[in-house]
Amino acid sequence: MNNSDYIVCNSCIMDTTSPDIKFNADGICNYCIKYKKTIGDNIDYNIKNIELKKIINKIKYNAIKKNNKYDCMIGVSGGLDSSYLVYYVVKILKIKPLLFHVDAGWNSSISANNIEKLVDGLNLDLVTKVINWNEMRDLHLAYFKSGVPSLDTIQDHAYFGALYKYAEENNIKYIFTGANYATEFIRAPLDWAYHASDTRQIKDIHKKFGTIKINSFPLYDIFRSKFYLKIIKGLKVYYPLNFIQYDKKQSIDILKNNFNWQEYPNKHHESKFTAFFENYWSFRRFGHDRRKLIFSGMILSGQMSRKEAIKKLKIDPINEIELKKEVNYICDKLNISNSELSTYFKLDKKSFRDYKSNYVLIKFFTKILNILNIEKRIF
Ligand SMILES: [Zn+2]
Repeated sequence: MNNSDYIVCNSCIMDTTSPDIKFNADGICNYCIKYKKTIGDNIDYNIKNIELKKIINKIKYNAIKKNNKYDCMIGVSGGLDSSYLVYYVVKILKIKPLLFHVDAGWNSSISANNIEKLVDGLNLDLVTKVINWNEMRDLHLAYFKSGVPSLDTIQDHAYFGALYKYAEENNIKYIFTGANYATEFIRAPLDWAYHASDTRQIKDIHKKFGTIKINSFPLYDIFRSKFYLKIIKGLKVYYPLNFIQYDKKQSIDILKNNFNWQEYPNKHHESKFTAFFENYWSFRRFGHDRRKLIFSGMILSGQMSRKEAIKKLKIDPINEIELKKEVNYICDKLNISNSELSTYFKLDKKSFRDYKSNYVLIKFFTKILNILNIEKRIF
């Protein structure tokens, strides 16, 4: 891209590094326009609150009727969104969740401590699913060797694959998730991060580059979760943070004051792999700065000024000393040398389109969901 082709949105900080971006005559991008169209400027949180209470009453009634020990299940990472969600549903909405955590091998000590503090502080039950590390490692290395940008696919898939599998096996009817529009409205473009739920792509990449058989990794296909689990089995997934005025700074203070919860330097960096991937791999190999998505989302929801975001973006996501430590940690953990990692770094850049996938089918069904107004976030 020539410098003259570079354009940044006049309202958020999304720019032409996103292949999906389009601008109107005023220089406003499609993400901002979509936000205005779907979320709007003035959400009436009184109405939202009534809607949320109705849902909660239904869930409580269902648990009493069926004599269930828990009202719902919440996947927790130790990060801000899921931690605050747990606090909110227990303390404010007065319901009892079962917490579910996936240990994919990359937890930072802060994330493990944060989960423990929530469990103890709120007297909750926690199920932890530990992913077989040999399989996890083999899948990770297959993705490195494939040359595609979305190295975080394996970890993301482990998180929700395990969650959905558990929900199916235990007949769970309600899942609450901390995903929200306030900080995550703008999803990564497909060319930055292909659908982690497309098992066809995972299987193809592993078939080409994997070295061991995958037996226990929780592969759970998007069609199984979106159709079988939701339509046939009746699972409902709710996003309670979209019903309240979710403010990141305030939520951090509440968690700190109540549980001595610890903050991360960046969103989603409760995982050491995500930190490495976003700060280094994605940023330096592909020029994808993930902070643009998060900061733009926060600008849209009024939680950050555009000026502040631009200022923050001028600084590299990580300094050289910390980066060296992160890279060494990843190599040690994956049991590869630094030069092996460098080899992967220099590989030809590939796209998800270079491997088998269900892209066309997913696109078709996403369109239907969009028409039915079920999925508002940008794919
Ligand atoms: Zn914009």
